[in-house]
Amino acid sequence: MTKLTKKQEERATRIHREALVVDTHCDTLMKLMPQPRGSPPARRLGERSDTGHIDLPRLQEGGIDCQTFAMYTGKRENQPDATLTALQMTDVYKRECEANDGITPAHSHREILEAHKAGKVAALLSIEGAEPLQGDLGALRIFHRLGVRMLSLTWNWRTPFADGLNADRTGGKLTDLGVQAIQEMDRLGIVLDVSHISDSCYWDIDDQKKGPYIASHSNCRDICDHPRNLTDDMIKALADHGGVMGMNFAPAFVDKENATLETLVDHIDHITELVGPDHVGLGSDFDGIGSTPFGLEDATKMPNITRELVKREYADDDILKILGGNHLRVFKEIIP
Ligand SMILES: [Zn+2]
Repeated sequence: MTKLTKKQEERATRIHREALVVDTHCDTLMKLMPQPRGSPPARRLGERSDTGHIDLPRLQEGGIDCQTFAMYTGKRENQPDATLTALQMTDVYKRECEANDGITPAHSHREILEAHKAGKVAALLSIEGAEPLQGDLGALRIFHRLGVRMLSLTWNWRTPFADGLNADRTGGKLTDLGVQAIQEMDRLGIVLDVSHISDSCYWDIDDQKKGPYIASHSNCRDICDHPRNLTDDMIKALADHGGVMGMNFAPAFVDKENATLETLVDHIDHITELVGPDHVGLGSDFDGIGSTPFGLEDATKMPNITRELVKREYADDDILKILGGNHLRVFKEIIP
């Protein structure tokens, strides 16, 4: 584990406290859902657990100020229950936030700042894979009313909007409906997330989308060759749009042999060298990953990233951007 001098430790503590730390992806809502009979009880957001990665006490200990909670509705290509599952997840999300004073749903950049000022964690609701919409833009508008502020058009499969990375055989582009969905998201104020999309649809989004998009939980393919990670050309295109990519802690996307805090920060180094410090952030994928890199075992270990960035002599301002400032810049533009 990283050894820092006393002065570096003090600097890291100060910066982490000063930062508004943003994590753009976790799957914790799945763990909070009522469990089938016979399985272990669901976790509660307000209770510290020794399993999984995120609950409110651990977010607070890790200094995470804005946490995106993703609604992921299942692995099957066609998910007939996806809409109901997403509604149930929305219900669990709202009830768990209501039950805890320390966290509050935010629907805009302004509300994130207000929550932070009030000493609360700001929660952001997202849809991972557009299956719950069943190809209906009315459903998109309703989920926006229910609080969704970030959405990816696919998980790994094909949806009525686009192709996920496991459905890339045709090398397809966005469908007409996919283009309309992006326009409607711009009109409503929903952040477009490109994590999990096929490469060919990625480039079509890059053509079609005006303004920034994000990759909420994706790393660099040049460092770790996996289709969930972005090529250098994709990273340059994302940067040209003013976008941000959130670093994913899944060991398979960090380093196949040696996933650690240090090899995760190597991805941050790579992006910074490629396009500067304005396009990288955090997107842990906590509670969606079976194992974690050494040094990033759960939300309480988030300050280790700050410590490693201090050790690598990043400037204070750049660390603040990476910890959350960059994502906040995009939020301010799309969901002011
Ligand atoms: Zn994912």
